[in-house]
Amino acid sequence: MTKRILILMSKTGGGHRASAEALKAGFAQLYGDAFEVEIIDLLMDYLPWPVRELPKSYSFLAGTTPWLWRLLFQATDEQITAATLNRMAARVLGQSIAPAFTRYQPDLVISVHPLVQYLSMRALKVMRLRIPFVTVVTDLATVHPAWFHPRANLCFIPSQEVYAAARKARLTPEQIRLYGLPIRPMFATPPQRGPELRARLQMNPDLPAALLVGGGEGIGKVASIAHALDAHLRADGKQLGQMVIICGSNRKLYDEMSARKWSVPVRVLGYVDNMAEWMAACDCIVTKAGPGTIAEALTCGLPIMLSGFIPGQEEGNVPYVINHQVGAYRPEPEDIARLVTRWFGPERGELARMAANARQLGNPRATFHIVEDIAALLGDVPPSLAT
Ligand code: UDP
Repeated sequence: MTKRILILMSKTGGGHRASAEALKAGFAQLYGDAFEVEIIDLLMDYLPWPVRELPKSYSFLAGTTPWLWRLLFQATDEQITAATLNRMAARVLGQSIAPAFTRYQPDLVISVHPLVQYLSMRALKVMRLRIPFVTVVTDLATVHPAWFHPRANLCFIPSQEVYAAARKARLTPEQIRLYGLPIRPMFATPPQRGPELRARLQMNPDLPAALLVGGGEGIGKVASIAHALDAHLRADGKQLGQMVIICGSNRKLYDEMSARKWSVPVRVLGYVDNMAEWMAACDCIVTKAGPGTIAEALTCGLPIMLSGFIPGQEEGNVPYVINHQVGAYRPEPEDIARLVTRWFGPERGELARMAANARQLGNPRATFHIVEDIAALLGDVPPSLAT
């Protein structure tokens, strides 16, 4: 009989949704239709007004007043504070999310968001619904303690850096599984680099390419970096590189980038569904320190130039990239442009070394390992299909 799995996320940034979609695709690829997987935005669709409006303020807070976001993150960052606040919120709000479980009748619940653990556990307890609950952490190195609930059946973590935090939150080694961040199955078999791919994507076949992104919502300094890079990649009338600018859902950025005249070859795109192809076709990525983008870039062997980070959950991603020698961090667009131009010229060897390190560090099959362990919790599932 088909088993029902409910994935709880909320649209704060593109990462949680991307991870949820990755898991859903992983179930479909491994087990066909043996599982029915639903993804819901628990916070926006089930919390009462005005609490459900809070997630909407995330991109505003993180993008325009990062200091305020940092303050909120740090104020709740201690395990004891986080657990107490979460329990209080769960008491008040747990009731309101019960209809989600009544409606979907899940056999198992997966959370890919830090703010839903306590709420859902409370609701399940009140409803006396004894079904497995697992957490899949979608932050890479710095994690908020709200991710960890001691009664979760399993907690999947993406990196060694997160292990200590999970243990500090009283999770046992048996509860913790370390496979990597769940990224979409397309990254398990990224397309072949080379002229064919570049031709299909209408890129210059020869010039080294920098991929510029700003998460799902196209936030950060994408425009100023593009301007600086355009100036540096043209010297003495010669083109030293090309750019692909992915604006995500940021329409204003897309319009601005499309209207501009560039001195090197540039592709400007809105939200793309084939990120693995764009990553495979480029030679480095310039991005804010989003966990999803970093994990994906690693599997594609793409050196990473970090241009900034959201205080709190993305902060640890900077030392993660630097310490593993898979990229660099430069907050100023001019410095980014200078270093990327060197990577495309005299420091080509360094770029190749970082690409090799990235390939080593990436976990292209993390999604499948996570999905297999979750399926095992539901007992007699069919053997996984070949992937
Ligand atoms: N993404 C995508 N298409 C786009 C822009 C972004 O598929 O046009 C995906 C990207 O590949 C990554 C996610 O959106 O999986 C962004 O997640 P990240 O954690 O990097 O940043 P967030 O948006 O959550 O701040």
